Amino acid sequence: MFRAGVAPLNIETLRYANNRYIPAEERLCNFCESAEIEDEFHALLKCTAYEEIRHSMFQEISTILPSFIDLLDEQKLVAMLGNPKVTKIVARGCSNILIKRNDIMYFKIIEDVINVIDETVFSLS
Ligand SMILES: [Zn+2]
Repeated sequence: MFRAGVAPLNIETLRYANNRYIPAEERLCNFCESAEIEDEFHALLKCTAYEEIRHSMFQEISTILPSFIDLLDEQKLVAMLGNPKVTKIVARGCSNILIKRNDIMYFKIIEDVINVIDETVFSLS
């Protein structure tokens, strides 16, 4: 899903919003403070929201590719998406990232709803 560039990340899902084309540089990550474009590279290697998932995924990859941890981020991405020996580990990591992303998103929506209810109740009292 990540390799094909069709993962539900903002780089893909925010292509069009409110009938307007959104340039790639505006399709930012809403899940950390980085203000970086939310693409596969960001989600797999950079986003602080997925640090724990990334840490255990990297540890597992290192048992198969011992020099993995010393690679540059760009080289790590190539190894993760191109080496069949780690495909299963990376697939599980991607799945965990997308599950966590959904959880955060729904939590944000619930928080917004609670805030609206709070403001409404406050304005009525
Ligand atoms: Zn992020």
